[in-house]
Formats: sequence, C-alpha cells, structure tokens
Amino acid sequence: MAGNTALDLVNTLDNRFHEGGPDELLESYDDLLRFVQQAGLLTAAQVRRLRRQTGAEAERRRALDQVKELREAVAGVAYALLDAEELPIHGIATLQEYFHRANAARRLTDDGKRLVWSWPEGEKLSAPLWLLTREGEKLLLSEQVNRLRFCASDTCRWLFLDTSKNQTRRWCDMKICGNRMKARRYQARLAGE
Ligand SMILES: [Zn+2]
Repeated sequence: MAGNTALDLVNTLDNRFHEGGPDELLESYDDLLRFVQQAGLLTAAQVRRLRRQTGAEAERRRALDQVKELREAVAGVAYALLDAEELPIHGIATLQEYFHRANAARRLTDDGKRLVWSWPEGEKLSAPLWLLTREGEKLLLSEQVNRLRFCASDTCRWLFLDTSKNQTRRWCDMKICGNRMKARRYQARLAGE
C-alpha cells in the first residue's frame, strides 16, 4: 500500500509503464465502492446503501469516469513532480475544477461538539468521487508531497509516501518489486553480465 489513499488511487491503473499494460483495477462502480471502503472512506453500511440504489446506471458510470479523470490528473501532477518536469497545465485545470466542485458539494454541519465540513457520504452515488477528491487535495497541497516517491522498478513505478525515518524506501513493496529486482540482478550476475 502507498500509505496514502490518493496514491493508492493512482496505483489502481496498474502496470502504467509496462509494455503490456496498463491494467485497469477500477472496471466498475462496484470496484470503486470496494476501493473506497478498503481505504476507510465509507463504512460497510454506507457502501451497502449505495449498492442498493437502483436505476442509476448512467450516474454510476459518470461517477466512475470522473474518478478516473481525477485519478489521471493526480497521476500527471505526481509523476511530473517526481520527474522534475513542468506540471501539466491540463492536469492542474482538471484538479482545480474537481477541488471547487468538491467544496461546493460539502455541507457545514454540527458534529455535536463543533462545526465541521462534511460530505453527504454514503447517500449520493457521487460520494466516492468527492471523498477521493478531498484526499487528492489534502495530499497535493501539503508538505507530505515532499515524501512522494515512485517504486524503483522501471515497469512498476507505483507511487507511495516514504515515511521511513531516513527516507530510504525504494520499493512499493519489498516482497513484490524489491525481491523481483534482486532476483533479476542475481540472474544477471550468474550470466556474467
Ligand atoms: Zn513496485
């Protein structure tokens, strides 16, 4: 896991830089709900309520398409930051639009102790979109972005936040990419390369 929901979202377009890729992990609105629940943004009960809403196929598809548009805008900015390239103007414009719309959709509510901004979570089919938009905004506009890294495997390049003390983490997952790269180097040595 990337240690950050916005980055986990970017990684749902798997094998982004792979010759045979990419692989889309968000094929359906149901996949999206599963992702948002795993990320802890919606409860199981809220997800069940969204699943039960019928006759809104077009709305579901639109919400999924918009999540992907958001995802690709976050990805464009994140990879440009890491590659020290100029940030994509189109991506910034897309993010600005989503951030504005998410802010317009929030409601000022009383949580029993004080006033808080909240989203109509678990009620509207667009709830996952706004919750993920907020995650993207929280990440990209914060200091956390300094800890943004991508996996050192050329074909993987999954994004993650390096929260290690010395900031030396190189792999999305030592078990997956770390071992794979080590094995490859070992084979190259055996072959006398
Ligand atoms: Zn990796």
